[in-house]
Amino acid sequence: MNIPKTSFQRIVIVGGGFAGISLAKKLSKQEVQVVLLDKHNYHTFQPLLYQVSTGGLEPDSIAYPIRKILKDYPNFYFRLANVLEIDSVNKNLKTDIGYLKYDYLVLATGSTTNFFGNKEIEKNSMTMKTIPQSLNLRSLILENFEQALLTDSLDEQDALMNFVIVGAGPTGVELAGALAEIKKGILPKDYPDLDTRRAQINLIQAGDRVLKEMSREASDKAEDFLEKLGVNVWKNVRVTGYDGKNVSTNNTNISFETATLIWAAGVKGKTIKGMDGENYLTKSCRLRVNEYNQVKGCNDIFAVGDVACMESQDYPFGHPMMAQPAMQQGLHLGDNLLNMIEKKPLKPFIYKDKGSMATIGRNKAVVDLPRYKFQGVFAWFVWMFVHLYFLIGFRNRAVVFINWVYNYIRFDREARLIIRPYKKNRYIFKNY
Ligand SMILES: Cc1cc2nc3c(=O)[nH]c(=O)nc-3n(C[C@H](O)[C@H](O)[C@H](O)COP(=O)(O)OP(=O)(O)OC[C@H]3O[C@@H](n4cnc5c(N)ncnc54)[C@H](O)[C@@H]3O)c2cc1C
Repeated sequence: MNIPKTSFQRIVIVGGGFAGISLAKKLSKQEVQVVLLDKHNYHTFQPLLYQVSTGGLEPDSIAYPIRKILKDYPNFYFRLANVLEIDSVNKNLKTDIGYLKYDYLVLATGSTTNFFGNKEIEKNSMTMKTIPQSLNLRSLILENFEQALLTDSLDEQDALMNFVIVGAGPTGVELAGALAEIKKGILPKDYPDLDTRRAQINLIQAGDRVLKEMSREASDKAEDFLEKLGVNVWKNVRVTGYDGKNVSTNNTNISFETATLIWAAGVKGKTIKGMDGENYLTKSCRLRVNEYNQVKGCNDIFAVGDVACMESQDYPFGHPMMAQPAMQQGLHLGDNLLNMIEKKPLKPFIYKDKGSMATIGRNKAVVDLPRYKFQGVFAWFVWMFVHLYFLIGFRNRAVVFINWVYNYIRFDREARLIIRPYKKNRYIFKNY
């Protein structure tokens, strides 16, 4: 990999997400050599992926070059590499561009979609964890309408204009709200020769409320907002299968015919061979770490962010898989790594919950702060401010802000472009 050997200890970070970047920033001026490896050369701001999928934002406004983040840091090296295997005995990593030795290894690989073993759903559904996946979804949504125009069969039109979203966490709720707004504001103008009033947005939730990680108040209000926008909210319904056309559920009276099933029902830790044994992982494939983010049983391997599971009394299943715990763990580990190198005692990680929020659409958001809970227009402004604040890069903030103002005033989403056509394997919809 052409990384020089120095007298400094080498810390290798795998993953330039919220956790990896926070850690890298913390180590920026220290006497250590830091190598950051990521399979993408950009950091993704995942909370706004749904806006890329629904044409509200261009992908480059929520992505930021990792090299630019690190450009002024001495002793820093970035390599575009997919890490394939960890040899913890010899402290060596196998990647698709070669091998790399480490003194300390930090796994910040995030999470991946969890289909809970259902291969049929995995094969036929759409996901939204990365920018390429969001672009696929954007293309598919638009292609569905283009295809609906070409068929005389009302059943086929309905299936093409029926969107089924599984999972009513923040991702599902935000996506459902955005699709409902497109149906109302954009489709009638773009497709005047198609009866787009028949388009359906179905949000399916296995539990008894949407946004179940938030307060009851936030859940009830979010559901109310969704219904006002025309989203069909299905609770206590579990999706059991999807063959590319029919969605089956645990309730024999409830099924859907759709060309688009979006799976937002779960995530699991993104593991790497060598650290993927049962002794390391929880049921949701997260690496068990102690209070210092040290992978249990390993002295020099750490995990932070979504992939790390720090079980505690307050968080028996680990911290929520969200940006805040990831960033806080990254920063905290920075201090602890320096303590470790200087042979000082390590400090346990304590999560400061700053609250959570979700937006359902224009003027509609729900916010739970530790002391206050509020919903509606003010919550929506708070949601926008917080997301702009945490976006990396002045240009991205400016572009997103201008887009939001433009979309707000014009009721528009200009990025509804099929730049990279997505060909789904449609064995039923033969006309396509
Ligand atoms: C659609 C969506 C909406 C979300 N909305 C919110 C929200 O509103 N609020 C909130 O707090 N959280 C939200 N989250 C969750 C939040 O984005 C994650 O909790 C956060 O990104 C976790 O940070 P991380 O650093 O652990 O992982 P990530 O940010 O996922 O970064 C992991 C990095 O590791 C890299 N990587 C993985 N495996 C390898 C490998 N083998 N080799 C090299 N590189 C690798 C990846 O390319 C990636 O860059 C959302 C997530 C999604 C998908």
